[in-house]
Amino acid sequence: MSKGKGLVKGLRRTLQTFFAKPVTVEYPRVKPAVDPRYRGAFAFDPEKCIACELCARACPNRVIRLKWEKGEGSGAGKRRVTEYRMEPGLCLFCGLCAEACPTKALAMTPRYELATRRREEAGLVAFGRQER
Ligand code: SF4
Ligand code: SF4
Repeated sequence: MSKGKGLVKGLRRTLQTFFAKPVTVEYPRVKPAVDPRYRGAFAFDPEKCIACELCARACPNRVIRLKWEKGEGSGAGKRRVTEYRMEPGLCLFCGLCAEACPTKALAMTPRYELATRRREEAGLVAFGRQER
């Protein structure tokens, strides 16, 4: 390739890139749109939880610990979750726990801003008695 042709080709490429739509956004001023199936923060609904422990068994990193008790009154004999905790820092965000949940009590949301000043406030679930 002659020097002239190479120069034109290089300039063309430069101009294409210069006028192309940017693939990045100015975060945090602009919040990027993520796919609805993005695996971000967890949502846990204790009312839907039947304490079956399938989520904890599906987790490869043993992130989930839960406690339950037998219900009374109209829900007599049924399990009722009293504590549900996910260990911050161990989660892979693989989603296996949410997939295993038969009642959709545990789900992953597209919320991706998980940085906090306190580990307990991270996007992982902490329901029930606070640990000391
Ligand atoms: S997303 Fe986290 S808590 Fe759920 S199975 Fe994977 S590692 Fe365990
Ligand atoms: S799999 Fe769902 S219903 Fe079962 S213990 Fe986990 S969150 Fe609760």
